[in-house]
Amino acid sequence: MRVRLDELVSSALERGAAVPAFTCYDFTTALAVVAAAEESGRGVILLVAPKTAAAPTGPRLIAALRALADDAGVPVSVQLDHASDLDVIRDSVTAGADAVLADGSALPFGENIGLVREVRAALDAQGASDVVIEAELGGLAGDEDKAFGVDTDGHPAGLTDPRQVQDFVSRTGAQLLAVAVGNAHGRYTGEPRLHWDVLEAIASRTELPLVLHGASGIPAADLVKATSMRVGKVNFNTELRTGILATLEAETTAHRADGENLQGLLGRWSSSASRFAGATLDMLSS
Ligand SMILES: [Zn+2]
Repeated sequence: MRVRLDELVSSALERGAAVPAFTCYDFTTALAVVAAAEESGRGVILLVAPKTAAAPTGPRLIAALRALADDAGVPVSVQLDHASDLDVIRDSVTAGADAVLADGSALPFGENIGLVREVRAALDAQGASDVVIEAELGGLAGDEDKAFGVDTDGHPAGLTDPRQVQDFVSRTGAQLLAVAVGNAHGRYTGEPRLHWDVLEAIASRTELPLVLHGASGIPAADLVKATSMRVGKVNFNTELRTGILATLEAETTAHRADGENLQGLLGRWSSSASRFAGATLDMLSS
């Protein structure tokens, strides 16, 4: 069923829980994630990567995710992730995305604010004022779509500056805030180390729900602890891919031998994604 992303996340936080968001490059994974959410009776977020959305097939995939979300027995939001291209944002929203991460985090502070405001104005102009905007303050190390090792201790300058939070939130009008507190996209080379002092300082300066990207590899206990500091949305991508690729690697030969059994192989793909999504939903609600 359709839901506003900010309301889904806020209501989870009121219960002391967080909502997981999973990057879906394809419909098989999305079906599996939604099935796991229905099984657990909890809401979930389907993330569309910017390159996926910008591809010629992007709007059709988003439209399919929209139909899947609307049909689901639990609240499901479809969010365009890490977007900065206004054309891609407009097309994605037209196709059915109900939330956007307007990502100006690589820009200087003022330009980041400018981008978020520009996205809001563009959405309002197309009659999409109900589309929820997440903004990001601080730079995340790593690559969203390819998991290479990231040494987060090597990027201390990218941490969100808590002193900028109030100003950023009020000037952007964003409804959720993604933070950089030692998290990174991709794979952590060492033990990931979240900067709790920074997260606490951010949480004390805004009422907005906070978002943690790059959760793959962060220990469950840390993610649960982050929930107590108003992190209500947690993004997963790498771990989902790791599981699916390992399954395909292990199962492809046998399924080829079994009469080119693609249907069976997709079933294994789906089980891998469902298992991970289900375990994550449970973990963030504990
Ligand atoms: Zn991200």
